[in-house]
Amino acid sequence: MKIGIMGGTFDPIHLGHLFLAQEVISTYALDKVIFVPSKIGPHKINTVKTTPQLRYQMVRCAIADNPDFEVSDIEIKRAGISYTIDTAHHFRKAYSAAEIFFITGADAIVEIETWRDYQLLLSEITFIAATRPSLKDEQLKLAIDRLNQTYSAHIEIMDMLSLEISSSDIRHRFKVGKPIKYLVPACVEQLIGEKHLYE
Ligand code: ATP
Ligand code: MG
Repeated sequence: MKIGIMGGTFDPIHLGHLFLAQEVISTYALDKVIFVPSKIGPHKINTVKTTPQLRYQMVRCAIADNPDFEVSDIEIKRAGISYTIDTAHHFRKAYSAAEIFFITGADAIVEIETWRDYQLLLSEITFIAATRPSLKDEQLKLAIDRLNQTYSAHIEIMDMLSLEISSSDIRHRFKVGKPIKYLVPACVEQLIGEKHLYE
């Protein structure tokens, strides 16, 4: 069994996240991807206003039509800041016979040296880093090669069609009254309206 774990703030989840997960399933023949919304991300302590429960609810509705996608509340239930190392250990135990891949965008992986216990994380976990338009391919390859060599890490670069969508842009668009339809699943758009998020 091969499992992908995709962490994030998901404030809100958007088609860039969903497309990335689907692309990894198809490229690496994974059995499923588990989305793990963070409770309090270490890098976003004072910036996320949406409750973890609402972000979880948006992920749950966004993935409902895909049998290969799951959502986990492991970080939301855990006390305190959400560290990837704790999440990694949880899934290693829960799926001890499976091969586990952590899925991130390239922007996230190049900052990994700011993460808690990143050396341990890099030695234990295989990462799949998807290209993002903000990073030039050459630059990304150099950064990943250096991490792989310095820490004996296992980071693979997955080239993918870039969808230049970000949660921050969606929040901004909603706030100024621009459409977000076709950037997020319909049920996510509906929840954003109903719960008065991003107003
Ligand atoms: P924000 O704009 O608030 O930073 P985001 O859109 O980057 O939000 P996150 O929840 O921070 O969303 O991202 C979770 C993961 O998804 C990260 O690893 C990030 O690199 C990746 N990701 C986000 N958007 C895309 C996208 N459009 N294409 C590929 N990967 C993405
Ligand atoms: Mg981001």
